[in-house]
Amino acid sequence: MMIRVARGLFVKGVYPLLYLGARALGTSKERLQRVLINTSNALVRREFKGKASRLLLLLPHCIQRDECNIRITSNVFNCARCGKCEIKSLIDLADELGLQLFVATGGTLARRVVVETRPEAIVAVACERDLSSGISDTYPIPTLGVLNERPFGPCLNTRVNLDAVRDALLFFCRDEKRE
Ligand code: SF4
Repeated sequence: MMIRVARGLFVKGVYPLLYLGARALGTSKERLQRVLINTSNALVRREFKGKASRLLLLLPHCIQRDECNIRITSNVFNCARCGKCEIKSLIDLADELGLQLFVATGGTLARRVVVETRPEAIVAVACERDLSSGISDTYPIPTLGVLNERPFGPCLNTRVNLDAVRDALLFFCRDEKRE
């Protein structure tokens, strides 16, 4: 409980002030957003015990190969699993762990998915900007953020470290007793 309160104070109070001050001194937005993501992740890992009964994996639309015409935002399981992008591996992972899996085209859709699915915990993959705003919006739900990789620049054929996603998901699947 104490760690949850500390996380809320940091995410909703300390970070916005730190952001304003550090921006005024010329620190880059992405660097500050990574501070929020890393700090929040560390606090969630200290706070959350046991197994989440409803675990949501949220992915950005830009992880889908740009030449793929299959509509996966309404239902990610429309994916033909050709393996040309990581959506296939992420569906396999969600199947293996029995998870809810959604692809969001932006913050508004992601927020709607969270309201509709009422997860106990979230693993979200996105860029610094979307992850930092998502972590703030979803508080107090424990959310672990995994940064995407952008070998072709922002919002195009992005990638993610599958081991990092698996590690974050498994963190919420532990059979550990809660206090
Ligand atoms: S794995 Fe293949 S079918 Fe599925 S979204 Fe990626 S490119 Fe499209």
